[in-house]
Amino acid sequence: MDNLSKELAKLMWNVGIFTETVASLGMENIQTKEDFSPVTLADLGAQIMVSHWLNMHFEGEPLIAEESLKSLPKTNRDAFIDKLKGVLESFLGKLSQKEILDYLELNCFSTKKESYWVLDPLDGTKGFIRGNQYAISLGHINKGTIDVGVLACPRLRLTHLSDRKDVQQGCLFFAEKGKGAWVQLCNLSSDPIPIHVSQCKDPSQAKLFRSYESKHTDVEKTNRFCEKMGMKLSIPVDSQVKYGLLACGEGEIILRFTPPDNPNYREKVWDHVGGAIILHEAGGKVTDVFGKAFQYNGEPLLSNSIGVFASNGYLHDIGVNILQEIMGEL
Ligand SMILES: [Mg+2]
Repeated sequence: MDNLSKELAKLMWNVGIFTETVASLGMENIQTKEDFSPVTLADLGAQIMVSHWLNMHFEGEPLIAEESLKSLPKTNRDAFIDKLKGVLESFLGKLSQKEILDYLELNCFSTKKESYWVLDPLDGTKGFIRGNQYAISLGHINKGTIDVGVLACPRLRLTHLSDRKDVQQGCLFFAEKGKGAWVQLCNLSSDPIPIHVSQCKDPSQAKLFRSYESKHTDVEKTNRFCEKMGMKLSIPVDSQVKYGLLACGEGEIILRFTPPDNPNYREKVWDHVGGAIILHEAGGKVTDVFGKAFQYNGEPLLSNSIGVFASNGYLHDIGVNILQEIMGEL
């Protein structure tokens, strides 16, 4: 683990402690964004924490992130910002309203630069609100390739990686290009454990993770895929936690189609960058449903890709062949 990874790990554990603190205080303050998706005090606070850190260590390096000033509520905005200042104080010290707005404004949405950060401060907000899984995802792109990724999963408990029965929830995945992927369990002081994808080559034994929210995918096509693969296990999981699970061998496939009522939906870059490098470095593969690699070009949308198909690598070609059949069927 080099120094940058150590510092990133510290940051991301802290952000996870922050989001769980917000949840334990019942201070989510759920708001609805323009696209009708929910956003909470935790999403915005987490983004401010990461922006604050990036501004200190990588000033001037662009950030493409999910939240922005637009995510703030239209009504009672000042009261919302006051609450945000209150919950952030024990993590970042006292911030003025202007600083809060400035950190949110560091999101540049899109960039022409070759080197930039990509952040989803809280991936799986609906899961977070429900008390289920969510992730905090940060990655760095250089010349179209992800070179570092960190995924904090504050509610994930990976019992199979520990010989302790009482292993606590919370883990942090990270990867560096060409160096491998690791997970830390429970806390920052635990030793990083190298992780690898499952060796499963038999589709009938494979486990698939699909979107928790059925509106986020095409359930009928997903069922058809499972049937053609002879797969019995299709498990709904929120957020990029799915990438972490695949990277440590807890499952074999992630599949997401465009939703039938929104066929023009394109994946957002922050929903993948942190998790995709972790799976890749653990031996897996990430493409769209046609087997095409994602193109990272400084834009918020992966506009040349349709859906997501990720696997442990061994099952990729067979999966893409079946997906081609399904996508070709009327
Ligand atoms: Mg989010």
